[in-house]
Order: sequence, then structure tokens, then C-alpha cells
Amino acid sequence: MARASHEHRKPPVGAVLRLHKQGVRGLCGWCGGNVTETTPARGWFKFWHSECSFEMGVIEQPALARDAVRDRDKCVCADCGNTSAKVKRTWNGKNLGPWDYETETWQVDHKVPLWKVAHLPPLERIEYFKLANLITRCEDCHKKKTKAEAAERAHFRRLSEPEKQADLFRKTIQSRGFDKQHRPMSRPHYDNTKRINADLEEA
Ligand SMILES: [Zn+2]
Ligand SMILES: [Zn+2]
Repeated sequence: MARASHEHRKPPVGAVLRLHKQGVRGLCGWCGGNVTETTPARGWFKFWHSECSFEMGVIEQPALARDAVRDRDKCVCADCGNTSAKVKRTWNGKNLGPWDYETETWQVDHKVPLWKVAHLPPLERIEYFKLANLITRCEDCHKKKTKAEAAERAHFRRLSEPEKQADLFRKTIQSRGFDKQHRPMSRPHYDNTKRINADLEEA
């Protein structure tokens, strides 16, 4: 199986930031709108809307995103409705120590999976990293969904990377001693015609 690329999981934050002037008083560097309030934030964020700096925080920091999703969904799985706020953790049937006695097993997932929008331009793609596209799923439902999507995802990957597929095919062909036009390559150490003739004589 081909090694999966994780590029599509990286939010295109840089593309959004490049749209607007950063550090300009009165202008938000994230949405480009006017800022009238003064925020206690430092650096760039001083000139940003507080919603806008929160929005970018959710996109860039998984821990902040998780907190925001917990506040909204209260750890309830979107598929089965089970709550996995606090689960006792065990190891080899024994409870663990008090420092990680309880844990939350719910996972942050995306309504529209990120691999499905990997081909979109950055400004459209960034929308799918926002809170509106985040969803709570329990471990089981998350696994089930990933499994159910596997075939579709592989198909999607083949469609979105035709050049790569063609390249792979070309390399495979070449490694077998044929050139790009599928003609046997004449290499001093690998004379294909001789080998084919030998095969024919044997048969
Ligand atoms: Zn803004
Ligand atoms: Zn569930």
C-alpha cells in the first residue's frame, strides 16, 4: 500500500495571513475588517478581532480545538449519542494511578473529511479546519467511520493524483527494462532482447 501523505491535515494558515497586512492598527490581520475594540492580546493579535484570534487558535492548536468542541458538544458522540467524558483507565486489568485514573476517550473528527477537500485552494480549504466542521465522535464510531471511508478515500486519492499514478506506472515499466514507449531498453548489463530470445528457445 502506498504511504499516506499527511499534507492535507496541515491548515493553510499562511495563505490566509498573506492576504492582509499584519500588525496594522485598526485592521484585523485574519479577516481584513476594521477593529474598533482594543484587545489585551500582544503582538499581531492586538490588532485582531478576538473572535478572529480564537478562530485561528482553533485551527492551529489541537488542544484549544478540543476544548472548544468539548464546550459545545459536552463529550457526546455525534453518531451514537454516548458520552465518554470520564472513563476509568485500566492496564492489564488494573486501575492506573491517580494521575491518569480517568480520561476522556472521545475524539475530534471532521464532518467533511480533510482528504476530501485536499484539492481545494487554500482559502476555501481553511473553512474545513474551523469549529463548524469539527465534530465529537467516540472511539468506536470514529474507527467505524474511518473503516467505512477507506475504499472511497483510496479511490479519491487515485483520482486526485493521476500524474503520480502515471509516474509510478512508468517507473514500474522502466524497472522491468522497458523505456517510456514500452520498448525494451538496450543496456549493456541487461540485454532484454537476448533474454526474450532465450525464453523463446527454451519454450
Ligand atoms: Zn477579524
Ligand atoms: Zn459513538
